[in-house]
Amino acid sequence: MSDILITGAGPAGLSAAHWLSRQHIPHLLIDQSSFPRDKICGDAISEKVLLELEALWPGSSAGLGKNPAFHPSFGVRFVAPDGTEVQIPFKENPENPAGYVVPRLEFDHFLAQKLDSDYTTALWNSRVTGLTKTELGEIQLEIGNGASTRRITTRLLIDASGERAVVRKKLLRQPFSRQHFSAGLRSYYDGIRGLHKQGFIELFFLSEAQPGYFWIFPQAEGRANVGLGILSSTVARKKINLRRLFFDLIAHHPELKTRFAAARPLTDPTGWGLPLGSEKGPRSGDHFLLCGDAGALIDPFTGEGIGNALLSGRLAATQAAKALQANNFSASFLAGYDSELNARLRDELRISYSLQRLAARPWLFNFVLRKVSRSRFLQQTITGMFSNVDSRKQFRNPLFYLRLLFG
Ligand SMILES: Cc1cc2nc3c(=O)[nH]c(=O)nc-3n(C[C@H](O)[C@H](O)[C@H](O)COP(=O)(O)OP(=O)(O)OC[C@H]3O[C@@H](n4cnc5c(N)ncnc54)[C@H](O)[C@@H]3O)c2cc1C
Repeated sequence: MSDILITGAGPAGLSAAHWLSRQHIPHLLIDQSSFPRDKICGDAISEKVLLELEALWPGSSAGLGKNPAFHPSFGVRFVAPDGTEVQIPFKENPENPAGYVVPRLEFDHFLAQKLDSDYTTALWNSRVTGLTKTELGEIQLEIGNGASTRRITTRLLIDASGERAVVRKKLLRQPFSRQHFSAGLRSYYDGIRGLHKQGFIELFFLSEAQPGYFWIFPQAEGRANVGLGILSSTVARKKINLRRLFFDLIAHHPELKTRFAAARPLTDPTGWGLPLGSEKGPRSGDHFLLCGDAGALIDPFTGEGIGNALLSGRLAATQAAKALQANNFSASFLAGYDSELNARLRDELRISYSLQRLAARPWLFNFVLRKVSRSRFLQQTITGMFSNVDSRKQFRNPLFYLRLLFG
């Protein structure tokens, strides 16, 4: 029996474990892997991630640049389907990078190494194979390590098992819907020409892959994380073979074919799913909270999920402390977690969902990017949107669209 058990030691589960430890709350943390371990991802960490790290370890984000695995990024380059490009710095006058690209092998290990063994009991190489409810309504997990199987009951399960989403799939039997899920492929390359000197990440929006994009995210020592992500309902409807399209783009896209002419793949492209935050529904229930990808919290436009995973882990730990104190693990009590998540993320996720739908119309996206490429005001507005999430609310302001159309 464990009062609190976390499934999954990605950013969401590790954040929950750190914040529980901060409150001196013992807990079990279970992962099917041991660290360091890879996770298929674009490896880009945004300012939201830096803020969460800063909340955990004040002053830590300033030191990240000294870690050779953390490659600084100062902005983003968007390329529209018609080739129009816009380069946007993350901040107007950057002193410190607002983002990094860091392999998840290193980033998750960096977080896991800081676990506090006084409060976290970690069970690595332990896979959750089944979930059931006990007569008291608590959750019983079946956990296998290859050699044997054991059962552990918990009063509160914080599910941070990522896209594998053990509560959703094994207990609730509610798979993610294709309209709110993207399919992604990731590879590593070196020798790509023209990587941005300030580490700008590059997103190529493509007429054959909407909504979605091909990316090049520069890393240390001239390497880059390269990938492709497309909404799963589009993949199914257009019968897209993601792997074939990935190699076709590298071979034939007017810009990419030149840039990849002398490039060398370091890994085979590997696929993984992205549960998007446009998915509706509660992220808690009787005796459980859903964090990170297990709670479908990825930004539907950018595909960014690490920041929301860390944030949701923090909020889950706060809710867990309240539940322990009140001795109340009911759905109605744990819904306080949903309220906190909604207060922080609902607007942001809605706006990103609108942007995702805009990007699904290549002609409209071409038009908008042409406008942005010619307007200093719009470029500054978008820069502001990276450094201040609240300023994304301008997308709700009709004046913004008037300036976009006629500015
Ligand atoms: C192709 C691709 C590119 C992406 N690019 C970016 C990007 O550049 N920036 C960004 O911010 N986000 C990106 N994302 C999203 C990001 O990877 C996720 O949002 C993030 O990893 C979510 O963290 P998490 O802790 O919720 O889950 P995860 O990181 O997936 O961690 C889940 C953990 O649960 C464990 N687990 C799973 N099932 C079980 C089980 N049955 N038993 C025990 N343990 C289990 C796993 O081993 C894993 O350690 C990308 C995603 C994909 C697929």
